[in-house]
Amino acid sequence: MSEFVPFGSLDRVMPGHVALIGVPLDENSSFLRGAALAPSRIREALRSGETNLCAEDGTDLGAEPRWLDLGDLDLGSGGVAFEQIEAAISSLLERDALMQSLGGDHAITYPIMRAYAARYGELTVLHMDAHPDLYDEFEGNRFSHACPFARIMEEELVMRLVQVGVRTLNPHQRAQAKRFGVEIVEMRQYQPGLELELDGPLYLSIDLDVLDPAFAPGVSHHEPGGFSVREVLRLIQELRVPVVGADIVELNPHRDPVGCTAMVAAKLLKEITAVMLRSAVASSPRS
Ligand code: MN
Ligand code: MN
Repeated sequence: MSEFVPFGSLDRVMPGHVALIGVPLDENSSFLRGAALAPSRIREALRSGETNLCAEDGTDLGAEPRWLDLGDLDLGSGGVAFEQIEAAISSLLERDALMQSLGGDHAITYPIMRAYAARYGELTVLHMDAHPDLYDEFEGNRFSHACPFARIMEEELVMRLVQVGVRTLNPHQRAQAKRFGVEIVEMRQYQPGLELELDGPLYLSIDLDVLDPAFAPGVSHHEPGGFSVREVLRLIQELRVPVVGADIVELNPHRDPVGCTAMVAAKLLKEITAVMLRSAVASSPRS
């Protein structure tokens, strides 16, 4: 049975483990706050009697000793919060664990990727989002949730950035994508059955607004014309490269009164965990 391990009990984290951590930070959200409340809501959905802890391939998270929930980070604000996130992720990666982070808004992916870059030299990021999040700055904030992938690419933290589901490119962000060599599968170009050509190791960053608001209304930025849940599940289930980390961000519980978007996040987390547990076997000789 997987256990809740309070953060700090690092000695419980062993090579090949897949560790979940909550990152309750939404101060860099540009439009609405609320994403900081998301980690606990996703956990509630995951552990509620409404469903079970199995991924669709039968991987049972409830019977999987290699999957650990480390609880939520206790964060300060501003640069302190980013340093705390980077330090926490680094300390876990140093133990040869694979990390899953629950946001929080998308700003958290920048400090997470700083930690990953120190551990993995040639990382590919698959970023699913309605938005490219490539603004140089947004409303005066260079660390806005509209900017993380500009910071990641400027610092050359990853080898490839592949974005899927994008449907909000404006001239500035299109220029940024070109400047940084971002590979974008725009939503208007997407065809069901698309096969992504990806390299490993892979980091998966899922902004829940990549889904159509009909499927996931509990996000701060409704952007119609997105994926169905099944299309995102297929993209996850068909990953054939080692997935060494993931985040699920931008659930806003204030816009999710009946909890259906939290349940979508929990469903995606189960599928990601099944893929990551396979990856942990493949990538860790000590597991
Ligand atoms: Mn985003
Ligand atoms: Mn988005």
